[in-house]
Amino acid sequence: MTPLPAFSDNYLWLIQFGALAWVVDPGDANVVEQALSLSHLTLKGILLTHHHADHVGGAASLQQHWRCPVYAPDSSHPSYQTMQTIPVHAGDSISLLPDGILSCEVLALPGHTLDHVAYYVNQQHLFSGDVLFGAGCGRLFEGSPAQMYASLQLIAALPVETLIYPAHEYTARNLAFAQTIEPDNRALHQRIEKTQWLRNQQHPSLPTPLSQELATNPFLRCEQLRQRPEFQSRSALDVFTELRTRRNDF
Ligand SMILES: [Zn+2]
Repeated sequence: MTPLPAFSDNYLWLIQFGALAWVVDPGDANVVEQALSLSHLTLKGILLTHHHADHVGGAASLQQHWRCPVYAPDSSHPSYQTMQTIPVHAGDSISLLPDGILSCEVLALPGHTLDHVAYYVNQQHLFSGDVLFGAGCGRLFEGSPAQMYASLQLIAALPVETLIYPAHEYTARNLAFAQTIEPDNRALHQRIEKTQWLRNQQHPSLPTPLSQELATNPFLRCEQLRQRPEFQSRSALDVFTELRTRRNDF
């Protein structure tokens, strides 16, 4: 899995197998074409998580060039109308390479947008789009807090070894916010140091193991946060809603 940096803070993720590749959320076709050409790769297909332009912007042009399938949420959004998509639904299984070498399962994760899906490759790698970020979660543009909270709970229930590949490099900022919520969380301090080091070397802070998110991402820790005096007698969903609002103003 190779992150291709694009725009100011996006990662377009390349799923590579030998000389073949799939790309998740190609917002910029040129960035993908350059990477393919540099490594002599053939693009076999495209996976889209949701309809925002920085995720779908390059898909039509890549499809035209490579004559490859584009899997996308089942939605009538105009973003998808410039290309031929294969609509996906929760529980669908997509074969990325023949003979079961590489396949993925579709998870429906509404909240950031209503049509948001994630792709769970070989039950190990989760491409989470704009739902889960390093130490944070996406903004609620279309869905309710309850929908987003349920989507995050679905991710939290995956095996803790799952590696998560978010579409943006927001980790450092999210960690700074997390520290305002849990200043005494030791795992959080360690992650802040590690992330600073990675970012100083211009390395991505991602992917991130689910175990790390469970220990440091406040949006996955609403149950634990209810132990804190500040949040006592609030429901976990209430805590989540409060955190999301605070993060918007952070
Ligand atoms: Zn988005």
